[in-house]
Amino acid sequence: MNKLANKVALVTGASKGIGAAIAKQFAAEGAKVVVNYASSKEDADKVVQAITENGGRAIAVKGDVSKEEEIAALFEQAKTAFGTLDILVNNAGIYQYEPIEQVSAGTFHGQFNINVLGSILAIQESLKLFGDTGGNIINISSEAGRTPLPTGSVYSATKAALDAITVSLSKEFSGKNIRINSILPGVVETEGSRSAGFIGSDFEKKLVDTTPLGRTGQPDDIAKVAVFLASDDAAWITGEKISVSGGIYGL
Ligand code: NAP
Repeated sequence: MNKLANKVALVTGASKGIGAAIAKQFAAEGAKVVVNYASSKEDADKVVQAITENGGRAIAVKGDVSKEEEIAALFEQAKTAFGTLDILVNNAGIYQYEPIEQVSAGTFHGQFNINVLGSILAIQESLKLFGDTGGNIINISSEAGRTPLPTGSVYSATKAALDAITVSLSKEFSGKNIRINSILPGVVETEGSRSAGFIGSDFEKKLVDTTPLGRTGQPDDIAKVAVFLASDDAAWITGEKISVSGGIYGL
């Protein structure tokens, strides 16, 4: 269980849900982890505590990924703590399902600023910290980006944009040994999907009924694939969009 030994990883939005699971699995595989959060210090501290109790190393660092100065400070703290960076996971994200009539400049910019701009700002900062041997970026996108559902127009557009960034940058990084891939989860049971009302809803039941593997995803389903992409097992994979959704793609 040392697939990420001697690696330093920064996971945005790692105080809850998918990000927290990725941070814990990365640490279990030997990585030193920066656990970023926006406001939930207590939750981020719990993730760090779970990692350290398991013999790993991690720090919690506050920072809103959509704000340039906060992103810069986040990476500065990562550098101070661990000296370098090998892996960035752009996981911080928000989802707001609403009919088109209700979409406002506020809900549009809110989602694009965190899901898309935040990822771009984090990638820019990570490039300054990646060493001569290259780096590894994982964008947590969504199956909603390529199989959009009603009332998810803006959210789906943010994830389609993120996937376009993945493919474009995989080519832009040619010759630099920087790999970049998207993971596209289906519905995953997290604090966010619970508070959005998905978990336990008719919507979830309908999705599960039409999912070949017949269940809602768990954060560890995504984290295990993130470990694979972050590790040398995926050394020949870049610019890919990998669905982790129980087979629901195409519905
Ligand atoms: P979640 O349970 O709501 O947790 C969101 C995390 O992102 C929290 O740690 C939160 O920090 C952080 N965050 C929110 N805004 C931030 C900001 N501006 N700067 C930094 N961190 C911020 O989310 P989740 O369900 O695990 O989803 C994680 C990612 O997976 C998102 O990108 C989402 O779009 C994607 N995804 C989720 C599902 C699903 O069904 N859950 C499906 C497909 C894709 P605080 O706690 O401090 O606010």
